[in-house]
Amino acid sequence: MDNKAMYKLSYGLFVLTAKDGDKDNGCIINTAIQAASEPNQISICVNKANYTHDMILKTMEFNVSIISESADFSLFKRFGFASGRDTDKFDGFSDYKTGGNGIRYITTGTNAYISVKVTKTVDLGSHTMFVGTITDMEVLSDTASATYAYYFENIKPKPEAVGTTKDGQTIWRCKICGYEYVGEELPDDFICPICKHPASDFEKVV
Ligand code: FE
Repeated sequence: MDNKAMYKLSYGLFVLTAKDGDKDNGCIINTAIQAASEPNQISICVNKANYTHDMILKTMEFNVSIISESADFSLFKRFGFASGRDTDKFDGFSDYKTGGNGIRYITTGTNAYISVKVTKTVDLGSHTMFVGTITDMEVLSDTASATYAYYFENIKPKPEAVGTTKDGQTIWRCKICGYEYVGEELPDDFICPICKHPASDFEKVV
């Protein structure tokens, strides 16, 4: 069995946002799809390590903002590289509006947003699948949607050509998503901030 077959699957990229009381939060996912047409439903799968996951499980509502090819790397850094548990991801950020459900959606580097009310959850182990009906949606731009492959080719900064940074530090790269950690030793309990895979899925860049 060749596990690399998984890399042949294609994905879009999305900012998933939720609101619980006064707390607004969001994360990057690649798992939003139309699940059925009659009634029109969306499904997403969210890693349980994400704070946004817990918020949706509690509130059963979310928005998906579809990331377009005009998105800047800063959008991925803001929503993908930190946890909303200890940071306010909207701090100093104004590229959003608030949908009819009270949840924010992203207006720059995106081409549409979809508001969803969750009707079903499925516990899948590492992830929970949320399925829901659409309560609102709008097209924001005609720019093409960014695929996961487009992100790696055109949005994510290219890794250093050699295995160390300019000041000679070792780089460890996540084999799943390409995230890079700089440091001599990668901690055993390190979790990739993007895809949440463990340290064992990192390789030393040589
Ligand atoms: Fe990763």
